[in-house]
Amino acid sequence: MLARSMGYVYRPSTIEGIRDVLDLARRSGHSVVPRGSGFSYGDTSMNSENIVLDLRRMDRVLEWDPDTGEIQIEPGVSIGQLWRHVLEDGWWPRVVPGTMYPTLGGCASTNVHGKNHWHAGSLGEQILSADLLLPSGEIVACSPRENQDIYYAAIGGLGMLGVFVSLTFRLEKVRSGLLQIEERACSSLGEMFDLFEQEMPSAGHLLGWIDGYGRGAELGRGLVQIARPVEDDREHEETLRAEYQDLPDTLLGVVPRALLWRGMKPLMNDRGMRLLNATRYTMGASRSGVTTRVPHAQFHFILDYVPNWKYAFRPGGILQYQVFVPEQQARVAFAALLEEAQAYDLVPYLAVFKRHRRDPFLLNYSVDGYSLALDFHVTEARAKRIEEMLGHFTREIVLPAGGRFYPAKDNAVDRESLQQSMTTEAVDEYLAMKRRLDPEGILQSDLYRRVFA
Ligand SMILES: Cc1cc2nc3c(=O)[nH]c(=O)nc-3n(C[C@H](O)[C@H](O)[C@H](O)COP(=O)(O)OP(=O)(O)OC[C@H]3O[C@@H](n4cnc5c(N)ncnc54)[C@H](O)[C@@H]3O)c2cc1C
Repeated sequence: MLARSMGYVYRPSTIEGIRDVLDLARRSGHSVVPRGSGFSYGDTSMNSENIVLDLRRMDRVLEWDPDTGEIQIEPGVSIGQLWRHVLEDGWWPRVVPGTMYPTLGGCASTNVHGKNHWHAGSLGEQILSADLLLPSGEIVACSPRENQDIYYAAIGGLGMLGVFVSLTFRLEKVRSGLLQIEERACSSLGEMFDLFEQEMPSAGHLLGWIDGYGRGAELGRGLVQIARPVEDDREHEETLRAEYQDLPDTLLGVVPRALLWRGMKPLMNDRGMRLLNATRYTMGASRSGVTTRVPHAQFHFILDYVPNWKYAFRPGGILQYQVFVPEQQARVAFAALLEEAQAYDLVPYLAVFKRHRRDPFLLNYSVDGYSLALDFHVTEARAKRIEEMLGHFTREIVLPAGGRFYPAKDNAVDRESLQQSMTTEAVDEYLAMKRRLDPEGILQSDLYRRVFA
């Protein structure tokens, strides 16, 4: 709700329809941004005063082979549609973001990661092949074996090299609709790093939640969820049904989920968030080590429990600052980020910790290390100070530690810092590919103009 723009929205449902929009743009002197569900936090699928190509009507499953787990889809299929289509056959998408509403076209173009990034890699690594429609109208098939340079540049290429019109994925076999989740409390940031290191060899997924208000010896205290596959589910026919995964419509059987964001609103201030974080930590610590079995969807898409949660941030909006720092530097850098946010009196209301590795794509944002995602409530009164603080974080803490930033979530990093973190060689190669595939510069976005063009 921070980045805003007005554009001319077209919603084609066929490849011919996309070609028509590209032709119209060329004739009328406009640029075009491909757009999925608009779930990126920043301005990557916005295009002020120009054309927005909303691809959500291209949502057909083109081929599905339940024996091999290979699926070919149109780009507007959402993560939610995908798992619903395949789960009863015993498959699940290996890499999913923290919400099921984004489209696969959008997720391929930002190359999303899940809570298993350090061993499963990014979403791009699950894509066997893709058809990319260039602004000229030509369709190029690409894969790790065919037109490799295009494949490695367009995945994670932020929609600026072409429009994905079909994607073929390999999915993961699952024997149950449930995951085994153990939640463990960590009384400090150091303990959280140690626990991740200890669990990485055997865990399927790892997710750390940090109470940003923890201070001194308790700086970085939080909870870690460790997920493992369930191999002995006697009820697998039942748990693999899509309906079994659905999130309940009410909380505790009473409060409709659709109203939950209104309940969050009075807590959207420092006092409320300090209380909420402390309560969550204390409750989690009292049950530390307890194991439960939960449906995949409930583990992966916890934020979807609260529809429209972002409205609780009104007036104002939410800014997520996610940084990726190499393993050796992450302990010191993350402690500095948390401490300095407290010193600025701008504690993040939500802080999430994950483990990653590098991937082979051109605009790789990841490192062999950890990420910390900090959510800030931006209001008119706080906006300037948050901007100053994040500028300081970027230049004095993250870049010197060899860190990187995630363009899909960016709203705060300046052009030089973003390019420096991705390396100028990679950015030059990306821009050269852009000139080759889109010589007229038809594909553009607010993000592209802000940090690349
Ligand atoms: C609550 C929440 C949780 C999230 N959790 C995670 C997470 O755990 N991990 C993670 O990595 N990300 C996460 N994200 C970010 C989100 O998954 C990505 O930004 C994703 O790309 C959004 O997909 P979308 O369909 O909404 O795409 P949009 O935001 O609409 O577009 C994203 C990019 O894709 C391009 N694009 C869209 N469709 C096409 C196409 N067919 N061809 C070419 N380019 C295209 C757009 O131009 C744009 O550059 C989260 C976001 C939210 C709101």
